[in-house]
Amino acid sequence: MEHRVPLIAGNWKMFKTCSEAVDSATRLADLVSDIENVDIMIAPTFTSLAVVSDIILNTKIDLGAQNIFWEKEGAFTGEISAPMLLSAGCQYVIIGHSERRQYFGETDETVNQRMRAANSSGLIPILCVGETETHRDEKKTFSVLDKQIEKGLEGLTLDEQHSLVIAYEPVWAIGTGKTATPDQVQEVHAFLRDLVGKKFGNSLANATRILYGGSVKPDNVSELMALPDVDGALVGGASLQPDSFSKIIHYS
Ligand code: PEP
Repeated sequence: MEHRVPLIAGNWKMFKTCSEAVDSATRLADLVSDIENVDIMIAPTFTSLAVVSDIILNTKIDLGAQNIFWEKEGAFTGEISAPMLLSAGCQYVIIGHSERRQYFGETDETVNQRMRAANSSGLIPILCVGETETHRDEKKTFSVLDKQIEKGLEGLTLDEQHSLVIAYEPVWAIGTGKTATPDQVQEVHAFLRDLVGKKFGNSLANATRILYGGSVKPDNVSELMALPDVDGALVGGASLQPDSFSKIIHYS
């Protein structure tokens, strides 16, 4: 079986001022200094990226952004581009988070434009997909995910050099305290890997890391990480406290 280095990623959403972000990153770096064979990423707000980047230089932690715009520069007030994220020290960017889809009008088409910009710049995109509770009740989970993946990855050049990370985040499990059952998670992750395989070949599918996100906490992470197609976690609420995030990172 393919060896995929697990990735535990923290999405700090719209929390923490610059000084709070610096304090949390400093504490986290200390708590995870013993970690081997797990990749760690934190995604602070745009305003804290550069200061956090300085703090985590030469630590086990990588930096991610929570969004990206597809143009490199121009008259696009309020937006931020791949070269800007790279220059702030980012290696990763979260794309198509359900909060962006729900509150900021993201569509599969704009998600795809962001994916292309990240992919061609060398940033590692974390493509978020997931069904709502209604989709699941109406048995549309797989058709919704199929469309999000098809559209999200359309036109991308992907090979083993262009790492891809997918985060399966059932919308009904984000910030709600509800976690999908291990059976539900494994079923969807296997389905997603199969989809990537059909589109880009088995070798890329085997190299793709598929994270689970949705109320991951220190007490449920081990069970999720033991599933064969779960290669990590995208953590919101529980990533805000360095102690609880460190416990998640030390899941094994
Ligand atoms: C997220 O923001 O991606 C997330 C999964 O949030 P939470 O862990 O709080 O459910």
